[in-house]
Amino acid sequence: MINERLFKHYRIDTTKNLKIDKRCPRPFDTVLIDKQGSCYACECTSWLPQSIGNLQIKSLGDIIGSAMHQHLQSSIDDGTYRYCNEHQCSYIKSGAVLHGRPERIQHLRLAIDDSCNLRCPSCRKGLIFHKDGSAYNLGIRLANRINDWLRDHQHPLQVHIGSDGDPFASHVYRHFMEQTPERENINYSILTNALMFKDFAPRVPYVIRNLNELGVSIDGATKDTYERLRLGGKWDKILEGLECISEQKIKHGFRFIFHFVIQKDNYHEMEAMIDLGEKYGADRVWLNKIEDWGTTDDFHTQNIWQTPDYLSHLDRVIARIQARGNDRFIECPTLVTEQARRKNKN
Ligand code: SF4
Ligand code: SF4
Repeated sequence: MINERLFKHYRIDTTKNLKIDKRCPRPFDTVLIDKQGSCYACECTSWLPQSIGNLQIKSLGDIIGSAMHQHLQSSIDDGTYRYCNEHQCSYIKSGAVLHGRPERIQHLRLAIDDSCNLRCPSCRKGLIFHKDGSAYNLGIRLANRINDWLRDHQHPLQVHIGSDGDPFASHVYRHFMEQTPERENINYSILTNALMFKDFAPRVPYVIRNLNELGVSIDGATKDTYERLRLGGKWDKILEGLECISEQKIKHGFRFIFHFVIQKDNYHEMEAMIDLGEKYGADRVWLNKIEDWGTTDDFHTQNIWQTPDYLSHLDRVIARIQARGNDRFIECPTLVTEQARRKNKN
């Protein structure tokens, strides 16, 4: 049954018709599992917030292709996209909805533990770290159920680890990676703050050898900004982590991505972040605007998006994108679209 309360919470009108003629592949190729075991047919729970089943009660095999899963897929097939959150989905917002006809699930996204060694103000109000207790026990049970399913899964699959906490700090994700089966059809992608990469990666060589992509969320290109925004992080340690990842990338050939969340205290470092990405041999630098996760009472102070200083920094970033021949080393489609709209209006 559709959870109307949830859609109201996200201000999603489920009677709308966006009339999108492309077929977004996500409800067909992606399952995301959250820390309660709820499964979603999109890459972000707030973009398509209806659960398609819970892993505490059902197996992944039963959840994939369930009646609710098919119902959400039909809202993409008919072009209405009525359950999608047009206020938050980056693809809808940038007018660049993907198109594809995947036949089966190709991406499993794990968000089963929010433990992290940092406490970035943009993400949480204090330290969250589960080493024991109910959240830890549930995380371990979910990790085991996922690994059970992976042991028998026959088709190519990419497992994404860590959109909610840090995979190398979390004891749940460490357990998952230490127990995950060695299968030729399974690859991994990891999003990390990189501070514990050097210490923990040698304990999971199979995962590192089969990495498709390693993303580092960083948010500061200088010691001062980095240590202010990544509370608990040390600049020397992150540089050591980047160096180590850079060496491993050369050895194993995974894609190395920088993620920079733009906010009022770091927008002036967008270009320095691009320099840092070039210095450490990254394949891409993603720039995204900060989103309101309800962790601060003064989020409105982040609204710097119309200030002349921010706009001139953005112009310089766009000039760099053009100077590189739009090679997609620098990715910020939403910002570029917004800037183009602004200029068309004037
Ligand atoms: S359009 Fe956006 S919200 Fe809808 S399924 Fe695709 S990625 Fe998810
Ligand atoms: S490193 Fe990532 S997961 Fe950890 S607190 Fe910061 S933003 Fe959140």
